[in-house]
Amino acid sequence: MFANESGTPDYASILHCIEEEVQPMLSQGKVASYIPQLAKVEREQFGMAVYLLDGRSFSCGAAHTRFSAQSVTKLFALALAYRREGHEIWQRVGKEPSGNPFNSLVQLEYERGKPRNPFINAGALVITDILASRFVESEIAVLQFMRQLADSNSLDFDRAVAESEIETAHRNFAIAHMIKDFGNLHNPVKRVVSSYCRQCSITVNCLELARAGSFLAGHGKIPWSEQVVLDQSSAKRINAVMLTCGTYDAAGEFAYRVGLPAKSGVGGGIVAVLPGVACVAVWSPGLDPTGNSLAGMYALERFTTLTKLSIF
Ligand code: GLU
Repeated sequence: MFANESGTPDYASILHCIEEEVQPMLSQGKVASYIPQLAKVEREQFGMAVYLLDGRSFSCGAAHTRFSAQSVTKLFALALAYRREGHEIWQRVGKEPSGNPFNSLVQLEYERGKPRNPFINAGALVITDILASRFVESEIAVLQFMRQLADSNSLDFDRAVAESEIETAHRNFAIAHMIKDFGNLHNPVKRVVSSYCRQCSITVNCLELARAGSFLAGHGKIPWSEQVVLDQSSAKRINAVMLTCGTYDAAGEFAYRVGLPAKSGVGGGIVAVLPGVACVAVWSPGLDPTGNSLAGMYALERFTTLTKLSIF
């Protein structure tokens, strides 16, 4: 029913089915409220897009609606830092799941300022610092990188979200000060935190996000331009870190249910990679208690079930 005679998934019907299935879930999650501006987003929205390496794309629902990428930008910041600095970055940030909330301070103290991985806030702040040593404004470098990958110059910062986050970024300031005290932050704390908050405020829609992440499905190459963003080995490593650390404290649950490397954000977006085949983006602002989009995670679970495609 969801595949043609040769077994190729019928993506259009699959997305249509998923869109119907998620409807009852849209009123169940909780919109992130610790960044005041994010609390204003209407909860009952859902969009999904699939970008296939052969150039075809499929979408449903609010796939054209822009949302706050938040932690999803950590993926692109990491890829940019990796592209510039190579394996050296692992001297300053680890690649193990933290087992703690994304904004936790406790581990940093006894691990002497080396964050567990680049997807918790501590690790993302170190990545921002690495970029800040290379670029005058690291957040602009990340924005331009995302624009290039998405092939869309209209991606931009959301100033209201950035300001709202900077005003309430007490925890991120505390994390950055702690890292600085251990000597693992080379630029001023204020500069790093404000660049990080501005980076998190980048808005994107599902179609753009699926396209932007497709180089990770393409083993490091942008599928439509053949441009090499990362070598195959580095792309594999980023996918591996996404699988183990990309979805907050639910990476095990996510791997079990979905079976794809993915990065989520508190804006309700998730980008997931099916190496060699496609990049998938979903968005629904209602979050589950682990901070992942409730309907988004379910949609990806249904996607891998109905297409019979996953990394396992
Ligand atoms: N800007 C958010 C923060 O640092 C990102 C959180 C997220 O999406 O995980 O708190």
